[in-house]
Amino acid sequence: MTHSPALQSELPLYATPESAPAINLDGQRISYTLQRTRRRRTISLLIDDRGLRVAAPLKAPQRAIDELLHLHATWVIRKVQDWQQKRPPPRSWVAGEQIMLYGAPVTLEAHAGIAMPHLDVDRLLFDPQLAPADIEFGVRNWLKQQALKCFTRCCQDYSAQLELPAPAVRLSNARTRWGSCHAKGRISMNWRLVQAPAAWIDYVAAHEVAHLRQMNHSPAFWCTVAALVPDYAERRAALRRDAHRYLLL
Ligand SMILES: [Zn+2]
Repeated sequence: MTHSPALQSELPLYATPESAPAINLDGQRISYTLQRTRRRRTISLLIDDRGLRVAAPLKAPQRAIDELLHLHATWVIRKVQDWQQKRPPPRSWVAGEQIMLYGAPVTLEAHAGIAMPHLDVDRLLFDPQLAPADIEFGVRNWLKQQALKCFTRCCQDYSAQLELPAPAVRLSNARTRWGSCHAKGRISMNWRLVQAPAAWIDYVAAHEVAHLRQMNHSPAFWCTVAALVPDYAERRAALRRDAHRYLLL
């Protein structure tokens, strides 16, 4: 059985579909996704950003899956509860709701005469005639614009410090990583990171820029990261531990 480390602190979270299989464990209904594969020989349980997942051999009887879930009921319940607490609240995209920008809350506010989302200190103003779906579209786009400007500036600053040419910076929508650096010197960073504190954004940018010099995670690589962000280890730990608080979208 695999007790994989929970990944949700690094990632935005998903809801389990309603059609998912479920089991009653100690009086609690726990739903999960079941993945059967031919290659697999044993049943394993995993809690990740999407909740509880069961991987099983193609012909594993449901009884065996139920038995394993009951055997590890305490672990499953505790992990599922952790996961539920970390899930972002449901969103209806109306005035009064909050988004996060650089680790601080920003309240959505309808304001007559505003054509495009506009930031006023800690309020994001938008056209009161917009439907929720349009507000969602507009706010996400606005966040992506802020993300691209911020990430590009960070990566340019760090590459200049290393006396490297400025990399091209793109936004990614990856569900599995904060950033990546391509061999040809292009850096991708997850736009959702713009919701997190600037110190964490700096760390991710420094990490990817350091890859322009070292395409690995060798001691020399970490020395380069430390030259750019001396307290990178604390930032990395905080990012892993607390990102779920900021990644509401
Ligand atoms: Zn790396």
